[in-house]
Amino acid sequence: MPDALDVLSQRARLVFDPIELHYDFGAGHPFQARRLHALIDLLQTSGLWDRSDQRTALPLRPATVEELGLIHRTDYIAAVQRLSQSIEEQTAQEREQLLSRYGFADGDTPAVPEMHDVTASIAGGTLVALSAVMGLPEGGHFASEDERPLHVFHPGGGLHHAWAERASGFCVYNDIAVAIAHVLQATGAKVLYIDFDAHHGDGVQRAFYDDPRVMTISLHETGRYLFPGTGDVLELGKGLGRGYSVNIPLEPFTEDDSYIEAMEALLPPLVTSFAPDIIISQHGCDTHAWDPLTHLSLTMRGIQAQVKLAHELAHTYCQGRWVALGGGGYDLFRVVPRAWSVVWAEMSGQSLPAALPEEWVTRWCAAWLEVQAEEIAAQQVMGKAASAADFPALFLDRPVDFPAQPRRWSISRTNRHTVGLVRHLLLPSSLRQAFPTTRNRSSLAGLVDLLHIRGSDTPSRSKMIETNAGLLILRDFCPPSLVERLQPDSGLRAFARLPAREYQLLLGIARRPDCALTVAHTPAGEIVGEVTLAPGDSWWEGLDNVYEVAIEVSSNWRGHKLATQLLSFALELDALEDMILFAEGLSWHWDMEGLGLSVYRYRELIAHLFATQGFTEQPTTEPNISLEPANILLVRVGKRVDGRVSSQFFSRMMSSPNMARL
Ligand SMILES: [Zn+2]
Ligand SMILES: [Zn+2]
Repeated sequence: MPDALDVLSQRARLVFDPIELHYDFGAGHPFQARRLHALIDLLQTSGLWDRSDQRTALPLRPATVEELGLIHRTDYIAAVQRLSQSIEEQTAQEREQLLSRYGFADGDTPAVPEMHDVTASIAGGTLVALSAVMGLPEGGHFASEDERPLHVFHPGGGLHHAWAERASGFCVYNDIAVAIAHVLQATGAKVLYIDFDAHHGDGVQRAFYDDPRVMTISLHETGRYLFPGTGDVLELGKGLGRGYSVNIPLEPFTEDDSYIEAMEALLPPLVTSFAPDIIISQHGCDTHAWDPLTHLSLTMRGIQAQVKLAHELAHTYCQGRWVALGGGGYDLFRVVPRAWSVVWAEMSGQSLPAALPEEWVTRWCAAWLEVQAEEIAAQQVMGKAASAADFPALFLDRPVDFPAQPRRWSISRTNRHTVGLVRHLLLPSSLRQAFPTTRNRSSLAGLVDLLHIRGSDTPSRSKMIETNAGLLILRDFCPPSLVERLQPDSGLRAFARLPAREYQLLLGIARRPDCALTVAHTPAGEIVGEVTLAPGDSWWEGLDNVYEVAIEVSSNWRGHKLATQLLSFALELDALEDMILFAEGLSWHWDMEGLGLSVYRYRELIAHLFATQGFTEQPTTEPNISLEPANILLVRVGKRVDGRVSSQFFSRMMSSPNMARL
């Protein structure tokens, strides 16, 4: 048995109420509450959670109509209430109209008795979970701050498809959007929502599409083949919310390794750039290879990696504030209970036992076999009858049960292109440089060889400059040991929002053998500006000596011509004449927030600054630039660059395998 103190020291709680077992669309429908019943039974039988232990349970209460109204339209809520009543109370015609107008007629989301009360309770569960972690009164009263939960799991929540005005994809009320809207109304917090379900998290994305206080990140099977059909990379948000909707559509049959690679290349830098106050993750486990409704091919290893990463990001960036939710999952007995036990074990700091409890297996294997037999009878197929040997005996999966996809290599390659495109569109250059993808990290950039500088006695050049705000020292090729002796100025926060995190980015870049960091610092050791040079990322893959330049000047030091002097110092070495340098100006990246400039004025400033160092503006089909007229690509081709290399470079700018896929 796990030690209750262990659980308490993690300050984790689980929300479950028997009313949630009524969220069920009936026999023959893929979404059935028996999966939740099997989960709670597994948690109790294995000793991972005890419903009667008040220290690890968090009671829910139904969301009020006003709370639901933060997201849902009043006429929709009224329709759900009306349709929840018994059929005799409505005329057939009225019922028909309500069903078709509000999304209940397509067979996916049938209207079921009591659905208002039941779904309002689920929405309330998620609202209580978020409120408890955020310290809001709706989260309940705790005797002391030490008892306030840091992490909450609500497996009954995660109904991410519901829209403001209609039911969709088995979802009636969008508990996630309602709970987030409640937090936004009550606090100034910024919320990061990560959706791991195999289906695109369309309802949550829609609810906050123009709101920069909520970043939604959805990893899902591409909408080319799967409901709801949305979730393309180019759905980026609109208005002030542009850049805050992130979509990572993955190929059918994506396996653990490719999934984990995509997640690790994107989540840490996105979380760094957004700087959220709380993370909400949705753990729909229909990503599993056994799920009957989707085509992703994850095992428990991939699902466990999602949970561990969400947990780690919450502690690194949000002081631990983390709410996890359930979601999809249609292998009701073999996958859902195990997957969500993995979530709870990670969250509560308990180690997962290897084997499932025998008595639990006996109970639920019987339920599973019954369903298999019914399905085979109903479909009149000649399927091989399922046997108890096909029911798992362990919490995690055995690799032997999941033979590799024959198309594994091409699936991973396509996913890598998608990830490269998302990084291009959504991550400012410094973040891409500080969080290189595995592939970038291993590619030989040759910069250091080219410059023959590292390893000599004086790795950095330095130069003193006089500005009207004081004396500054410029240094290039800063090794990490030098950066460690410096501190960031309070205005150095253009990319990661906080000077301390910006400083971590610089350290990361200084540690990369294929990057060069130039800084401007005060005699007291405060970094007030920086220029970085890093190999061009996936868009430029296969081209040698193509480097991206990024520059930042502390907001406290603008208007002193520092940018021009710093850039000139960083790029004046003769060895750079062997390289092609480029820089991108990105209007929707929030590093221009608070500058008080229009995007076009910002664009002009960047063009002007780089023109002083021989850069010219170039046309390109690179989506970042071609889709947004305020963005700009600036290029400087070194004097000694071979004509063949530069023509390759220019032809790449006008076409790309990524673009061909769009
Ligand atoms: Zn923790
Ligand atoms: Zn799903």
